[in-house]
Amino acid sequence: MTTSKQATAAHPPHDPAEVDDSGCRLPRLWTRTLGDLTLTYVPDAGVHMIPTRVYPASADEDWTEHGPHMTDAGHLAMSCGALLVERVERVERVERGGRRLLLDAGHGRISGEDLEHFQHGFDHVQNLPDHLRRLGVDPATLETVAFTHLHDDHTGWARPDAVDDPRSLFPVARWIVGAGELEGLDPASGPRLAGQSERTTAVADGTEIAEGVRAWALPGHTPGHTAWILDTGDGRRIVAFGDAMHSPVQIEHPDWEVVLDHDRARAEHSRRRLVEFLAQDGVFGFGVHFADQQLGTVDGGGHWRPWEDK
Ligand SMILES: [Zn+2]
Ligand SMILES: [Zn+2]
Repeated sequence: MTTSKQATAAHPPHDPAEVDDSGCRLPRLWTRTLGDLTLTYVPDAGVHMIPTRVYPASADEDWTEHGPHMTDAGHLAMSCGALLVERVERVERVERGGRRLLLDAGHGRISGEDLEHFQHGFDHVQNLPDHLRRLGVDPATLETVAFTHLHDDHTGWARPDAVDDPRSLFPVARWIVGAGELEGLDPASGPRLAGQSERTTAVADGTEIAEGVRAWALPGHTPGHTAWILDTGDGRRIVAFGDAMHSPVQIEHPDWEVVLDHDRARAEHSRRRLVEFLAQDGVFGFGVHFADQQLGTVDGGGHWRPWEDK
């Protein structure tokens, strides 16, 4: 990322499409239909990471083979955002309500200027509310947000300080987290979610939280870290796996812990289970941080195959 790009991050343009970001691997909004489900990736930020700081077990020379995941400037590209899940039967959805589900809630209100030691820079920050508006999704009526875990880059627009309304961007939504996630929080840092104690339900491994949406406990990154398995209704499954993996390189290096993993051994164990699951036929993975390749499959050689935008 150049100096001019940093200036861009401080003053995000109205239309990200106007910016020449070739080589930055920024996240894009996309919509795909699989079986009965329509999935929309709602981007909120692009982040450029310093690879050996995100993955302390890696060395500079390890990254020469990972060009497809790097920016032109040699940083590891990541995205922040949310996954909007809708059942295709639109009439039924409107009549019955509750057919929309958001998985995670973006990075939220950030300037992009307060960098962690493993980050090099942000781009196109805090545009999830704009994208929802353009999609015709009213956050005021959204009923459910399920979280993979409660780190700030996933709770963004659900935090008590997300917007002027202390109920957050989603004033009536119920929050769903995996069992153990609330107990793992540091009480001194205050609630992570608006109305956390009243609005949050913690669910056990395997719980179906909406039609065809089940919890899969993948602990380690945080104590209650949970993936969400979506059943498409035609025999396929999509697993939204949160921070069990931060980039496709971990499919080839499941032993590479990420700098923020709470329990490295458990995180690695979960990651290996996840890679095994993703290698099955009919299973798609959704990696919220996977730069411009969020949706894909793991091929027979153990590589990430993004589902190309057509
Ligand atoms: Zn995390
Ligand atoms: Zn994250």
